[in-house]
Amino acid sequence: MNTDQTSQRPLLSVRHLSAAYGRIEAISDIHLEIGQGQIVTVIGPNGAGKSTTLAALMGLLPIRGGECQVLFDGEDLAGRDIEQHVARGMALVPETRALFAQMSVQDNLVLGGFRLRGQSRAARQAALEEVYGLFPRLKERARQEAGTLSGGERQMLALGRALMGQPRLLMLDEPSLGLAPLIVRDIFRIIVQLRERGVSILLVEQNARAALKVADYAYVLELGRVAMQGPARELAHDPRVVEAYLGAAGRHQELLST
Ligand code: ATP
Repeated sequence: MNTDQTSQRPLLSVRHLSAAYGRIEAISDIHLEIGQGQIVTVIGPNGAGKSTTLAALMGLLPIRGGECQVLFDGEDLAGRDIEQHVARGMALVPETRALFAQMSVQDNLVLGGFRLRGQSRAARQAALEEVYGLFPRLKERARQEAGTLSGGERQMLALGRALMGQPRLLMLDEPSLGLAPLIVRDIFRIIVQLRERGVSILLVEQNARAALKVADYAYVLELGRVAMQGPARELAHDPRVVEAYLGAAGRHQELLST
């Protein structure tokens, strides 16, 4: 396992994950692991298969091949539908940040808490207050229509909505995409806070520098395959990673993210 908590079994353990769009294979034979309370990042260029990996893990895309395993807390979810993934505590915040534009911020959050339906009103209220604690700006805008939020606020709402389901594993697809530097910093700060609260995180990012800074472990995806992996701190100094992902363009990204 890829942590120092070797005695614990990983929260997510994936073997032989492949998925295709029609006849075009987008990801091939991916293996990855996420330890309890870890931030694991998947970095890589455009089209490498990062979003596809998340979709396949979440049950949104059919998985190829009979040997695939998606063990979540020891239970194999390969081939199960998205509801079953959500019910067990997996949540995905997609890149598109799709929200119910005409509904208020608060109603969007309440809808995100549908996993909590069986719980008391007080428990649901507590979940809402916890999200507002992380994102005071959403509380200020509780009655505002979601469609009128800024890009950063939309990302916060998308994250907050996923958190309302009290996931054990939160999968984020490029949370920094298109956001101003200060907002990117806020979002990454919140990702770290979530880990401190025990939420495990799978973070897909093109902003490799920012992602490697917060992650415990990292995978580099290229052409649908895992090309490199290792502790994030080590990969951040690997000459191949530095050249391909943290070079001049990476430095520019760092300036934007700090
Ligand atoms: P980006 O960083 O640009 O979002 P990515 O690493 O997330 O890229 P994917 O979106 O997973 O990459 O795409 C992997 C490959 O699958 C690409 O070649 C892409 O063109 C292809 N692909 C993605 N979605 C579809 C689709 N719905 N139908 C057909 N091909 C697709």
